[in-house]
Amino acid sequence: TAPAPSYPMDAPASQALFERAQQVIPGGVNSPVRAFRAVGGTPRFVASAQGPWLTDADGRRYVDLICSWGPMILGHAHPDVLAAVTDAATRGFSFGTPSENEVALAEEIVSRVDPVEEVRLVNSGTEATMTAIRLARGATNRSVVVKFAGCYHGHVDALLAAAGSGIATFGLPDSAGVPASAAAETIVLPYNDVAALEAAFAARGDEIACVITEASPGNMGVVPPLPGFTEALRRVTRAHGALLISDEVMTGFRCSRSGWYGLEGPYDGGAPDLFTFGKVMGGGFPAAAFGGRRDLMALLSPTGPVYQAGTLSGNPVATAAGLATLRGCTDEVYARLDVVSQAIAGGASDALAAAGVPHRVQWAGSMFSVFFRDAPVTSYDDAKAQDTEAFRAFFHAMLSRGVHLPPSAYEAWFVSASHDDAAVEHVLAALPEAARAAA
Ligand code: PLP
Repeated sequence: TAPAPSYPMDAPASQALFERAQQVIPGGVNSPVRAFRAVGGTPRFVASAQGPWLTDADGRRYVDLICSWGPMILGHAHPDVLAAVTDAATRGFSFGTPSENEVALAEEIVSRVDPVEEVRLVNSGTEATMTAIRLARGATNRSVVVKFAGCYHGHVDALLAAAGSGIATFGLPDSAGVPASAAAETIVLPYNDVAALEAAFAARGDEIACVITEASPGNMGVVPPLPGFTEALRRVTRAHGALLISDEVMTGFRCSRSGWYGLEGPYDGGAPDLFTFGKVMGGGFPAAAFGGRRDLMALLSPTGPVYQAGTLSGNPVATAAGLATLRGCTDEVYARLDVVSQAIAGGASDALAAAGVPHRVQWAGSMFSVFFRDAPVTSYDDAKAQDTEAFRAFFHAMLSRGVHLPPSAYEAWFVSASHDDAAVEHVLAALPEAARAAA
């Protein structure tokens, strides 16, 4: 086959924007992993996006394998979502009163995830996990939180310990500015390690308010729970009176119509007590949620003593986007995500194998990532033992051939149902040379 055509490595319009950005925005970006620190070079400033395609400031087109880090499950500017957003916006942007869309979005979420009886809508996944922890602490009158190395739950003080992608990308163990007292209330355990979990609970079980886990981690790359791990979390937390929080911000409504829970649950011993959602349920707008059993959710203000609020929470335009997106997530959409993921992951694996590059593909439903190491990845330590130089070469070779991967070796590759055969073919054509560049 003919080699895929490639763009020049420089990107003058993006470069000019990046220089301007660096004068007024720290590092030139509003979220660190966008800065290309791990891979070097100039981040592409996107001017517009349609379906599976991004168009940058230089007018170059890329098949998008970031999909806004998960939300764009139907593809960019999907006509039904656009119509819903336009309709909502013409009726006002934000009311500061309750409105019907909030109810409809909450109903949609509750109808999809059985153990979730009530949800509260917020603006970001960070807010969702922050408040879920506050609720768990309020419900148990305990303060210690257990999290797992490599799991990211947003930039909540208590959760910025061994927090996966962004932090792994920068090689930071932690964040400056998190008080020692906040970190002291957090126990970080190795993922998929039941013995470590049992030991932590044996030592401090009566102080632990909750265990928070990514339902199936995607922030150290895709590292699904080993069989029985989530069940062990349920068993041990319940035995010690602690709550279990399943963070489905990334997996929710992506791995299946009911998220990771739809694939793995219900668990022996019961469901998680609380869930957090974001990304897909906002359809590309700032909307997220946390929810769970009615008796726990009743502890929230205004019915209970745990305070939480938000000027823009349940925003009518964001909820319209989320609702249209979730309603658009039909069985056909999930089937297409499977087909696209299989084709791209299979193509990447074949190309890397042909070029002799050690690699491994891991899955959570149709969510996948390609690790640049050739052994099972079951923990953060495994994920960190990757050939990041090989990834860097691969990333740039793909970018120059019009495929935009997440700019870090520690990320899931996200696809959408709008990735049609032309987009998939474009990715497959770019892979052989990119794989050779990584060799
Ligand atoms: N939890 C998980 C599992 C995530 O993947 C993320 C974001 O990547 C968050 C929480 C934080 O969400 P947000 O970036 O909307 O604050």
